[in-house]
Amino acid sequence: MIPFSPPRIDDLTIKAVEEALRSGWITTGPRTKEFERKLADFCGVDRMIALNSWTNACELVLRWYGIGPGDEVILPAYTYCATANIVMHVGAKPVLVDVLDDFTIDPEAVRKAINQRTKCIIPVDIGGLPARLDRLMRVAEESCALFTPAVNLRVAGSNPQMRLGRALVLSDAAHSFGARIAGKPVGGQADITGFSFHAVKNLTTAEGGALAFNLPAPFDHEEIYRWFNTMSLHGQSKDALAKTQPGAWRYDVTQPGFKCNMTDLQAAIGLVELKRYKSETLPRRKAICDRYSAAFSDDARFVLPTFVDEEPGRAARTSSYHLYMLRVASATEAQRDAIIEAIAKKQVSVNVHFLPLPLLSFYKGQGLRMDDFPNSYKHYSREISLPVYYDLSDAQVDTVIQVVKAAVKEVMG
Ligand SMILES: *Cc1c(COP(=O)(O)O)cnc(C)c1O
Repeated sequence: MIPFSPPRIDDLTIKAVEEALRSGWITTGPRTKEFERKLADFCGVDRMIALNSWTNACELVLRWYGIGPGDEVILPAYTYCATANIVMHVGAKPVLVDVLDDFTIDPEAVRKAINQRTKCIIPVDIGGLPARLDRLMRVAEESCALFTPAVNLRVAGSNPQMRLGRALVLSDAAHSFGARIAGKPVGGQADITGFSFHAVKNLTTAEGGALAFNLPAPFDHEEIYRWFNTMSLHGQSKDALAKTQPGAWRYDVTQPGFKCNMTDLQAAIGLVELKRYKSETLPRRKAICDRYSAAFSDDARFVLPTFVDEEPGRAARTSSYHLYMLRVASATEAQRDAIIEAIAKKQVSVNVHFLPLPLLSFYKGQGLRMDDFPNSYKHYSREISLPVYYDLSDAQVDTVIQVVKAAVKEVMG
């Protein structure tokens, strides 16, 4: 059996977690802080915070920006449910727009969807290819005249909506750690970028996530970091490590915060992953995707995913090679499902990324209609994600290729 996406756990990972366990400090502590500093170095930003998931980290961003009932957040119809769920959690309204042929959000559709209620835009770097963030940042800036900040908002002594004066661009980079835009690592383009280190992601801490802060002056990233750090620990003025200092037991709570800190056990895994990301993880993923592309490119029945976009007139984008999102050109949804069934019979695990939001019962119940997002449906109905992970051998890649081609032939003729 060829699994879809097992994590890379080897002696280095196990030793690192063992050391953390034996160190006597297992929750947020020195390893988490080191991981945050190294992540920020990697992403080329001055501050990052590591938390327990993309979901809780990005929900906290919406709360930091004072987003709630009456507000709208624009996001693609083609994404994982987490992107929209966090908007529901804060009582705001997700406003969906369609995607382009490379699966990323259409900046023109975003421009048309912006109105006085728009407080945030969440592009998604599906499969690891960054969304067109240069265009999206311009769309957000050019629409600032429509922006209507909440007047009574106070967060850590100031009003972030008044300060920014436009919709916040929060990038869903759950797939794109290590991807690049115009040669620069993802993290330094949107106002805030959220990463996921969930077990199936291209850099994992078992469960986890991080935020990269990249807000324009006069935002103070150190102050923002402190707000997120405090709010990830119940709004408590001192964290567990600070309270272990002799006599330092007293603390205060000025805000009812949340509980979404990262533990040092997770950070221990992350530090190993980060250290070998550039030298081992990314090159291996790229080699696997290139091998797939070479095999599927000579057959017109397949639409290959984009990993490098270097069209003149826009910022070059390079993927993190997180997913291999193959499409079968003329397949209906039922044919695609039959192809997956035929592949499964040959003991190869594939996947579909993603069921667009309007196909999920809850969002259907919110009145969303799949017909309003024709590109999202078209891409979804033809899509099959193939296995990509460090331990997948070239021989296994060749097996997957052979099995997929045979299944497509069997179903499509
Ligand atoms: C995995 C994923 C998330 C959620 O990440 P968690 O760390 O599991 O909360 C969000 N968006 C996308 C596109 C994802 O694939």
